[in-house]
Amino acid sequence: MTTSTSTKSTTKSTTSRRPDRPVFAGPIQELVDELGRLPGVGPRSAQRIAFYVLEADRESALRLAQAIVEVKDRIRLCERCFNVAETELCTICSDSRRDRSIICVVEDPRDIVAVERTREFHGTYHVLGGALSPIDGVGPEQLRVRPLLVRLGIEGVAEVILCTNPNLEGEATAMYLARLLLPLGVKVTRIASGLPVGGDLEYADELTLGRALEGRREVTS
Ligand SMILES: [Zn+2]
Repeated sequence: MTTSTSTKSTTKSTTSRRPDRPVFAGPIQELVDELGRLPGVGPRSAQRIAFYVLEADRESALRLAQAIVEVKDRIRLCERCFNVAETELCTICSDSRRDRSIICVVEDPRDIVAVERTREFHGTYHVLGGALSPIDGVGPEQLRVRPLLVRLGIEGVAEVILCTNPNLEGEATAMYLARLLLPLGVKVTRIASGLPVGGDLEYADELTLGRALEGRREVTS
């Protein structure tokens, strides 16, 4: 009874020595697999979260599921700045207290969160949707450069702050934009160095990023 023939491959395994085989019953294994695909979630964390969900009361588990559905159904991009938004304009663009004459150009909506945390900036944003990276096939056409130029034409913009990441792609993007914007007669500034080079704005602490914003320098041709 305890011996099994080697030819008969069974679905019951008495030991869990086969990590490539699903260990848990269908739905929980599916959840573990889905969670494991999330950025920054390793297999152990995926397992921990899945069991947390399993043990949580039904209501809070459904709240989590509903939050995911709502994000997919109700969030879109702001028509003006391409930040995430619930209506055609994001909360920043629809806030009349924000200074429309100054635009902070960032790569990603998450960078807006980082800049907002500094409480140093009261203008509006423009989200490029990435940075120039020829290796990855990202050229100016893949970024929202043209809509930025359109905004400059109609919004009475006096200054554009280039707030791309302090890494190779971010610097290249800033330089590209500066060359494009300077002839248009708008003041172009770049956040000061002092941020960890190669880093992501997203991870910069608000004090450092605040200082980098405050110490931004004008880009001249
Ligand atoms: Zn917006």
